[in-house]
Amino acid sequence: MSQAIATPSRTRAILEKHNLAYKKSLGQNFIIDGNILRRLVEASEVTTADGVIEVGPGLGALTEQFARRAKKVVAYEIDQRLLPVLEDTLAPYENTSIHHQDILEADLQALFADEFKDTTHVVAAGNLPYYVTTPIIMMFLEQRLPIKTLTVMIQKEVGERLAAAPGTKAYGSLSLAAQYYAETETILKVPATVFMPRPNVDSTIVRFRVREAPPVQVGDERLLFSVIRAAFAQRRKTLANNLIRWIEEKTGDQSALPAAFDVAGIESRRRAETLTLAEFAALTEALATEQV
Ligand code: SAM
Repeated sequence: MSQAIATPSRTRAILEKHNLAYKKSLGQNFIIDGNILRRLVEASEVTTADGVIEVGPGLGALTEQFARRAKKVVAYEIDQRLLPVLEDTLAPYENTSIHHQDILEADLQALFADEFKDTTHVVAAGNLPYYVTTPIIMMFLEQRLPIKTLTVMIQKEVGERLAAAPGTKAYGSLSLAAQYYAETETILKVPATVFMPRPNVDSTIVRFRVREAPPVQVGDERLLFSVIRAAFAQRRKTLANNLIRWIEEKTGDQSALPAAFDVAGIESRRRAETLTLAEFAALTEALATEQV
């Protein structure tokens, strides 16, 4: 077996052979440490009967690690220049296929019907391009794809927001959205030194175990997320102050708000960052009863 892609010397050799320069605008920071990638693969809980969707294979470093442990890997790469590179580096792995496409535009539902008919579970993963981390994560979670886990390398600060608990500085609408769709866990902190070129920030591996059903039930999911976003509009303001503005814009009338706080048993002087997901759900149901 040839030397793994995720080493400094092999990465340099691949770049030289194909006369490639990094595209910063596409978040190209390649991993040069195989141990980190193996930890990511382990965290995904992939088995040899499973399929993998990978975001942004780059030179193929993570694709290679998954190809050795999964039944099939389908990877989406936006940068056309990398297609011949991947054909070369992944030649030993017949269970990989590369789609030249922006992952945000991919028809992933169709992928399940076409390519993952013969796999037990599917996991999604990637060392995500930093400029588009959150939209990619939310796309996977909101589409309710039948994936077992989503395991991603992302900037540390976003990882902290995703996994934050109520009452902490990092807690916000992103933490609540992640919690609604998945059990979120930080697996490993990753220093900038394992990337080529080195990014300006440290990273973290985060795993989402996708839930079969949300932990709270609401009649109208969109209303829940609208309330959450509005409640965090200005973090230093109280819930009442943030939600008065929102309800005025939505209905032209704020009279339903005090009753909704009452029914939900939530003190209107609290700040959004102190509310749990269950409390946001209760407030949403109370607002819905008031016809908001
Ligand atoms: N997986 C490789 C590794 O770990 O070394 C490369 C990771 S690099 C951080 C991110 C990769 O995502 C790059 O190859 C980049 O071209 C690709 N990319 C950026 N935006 C993308 C998008 N919207 N859809 C698919 N791939 C994208």
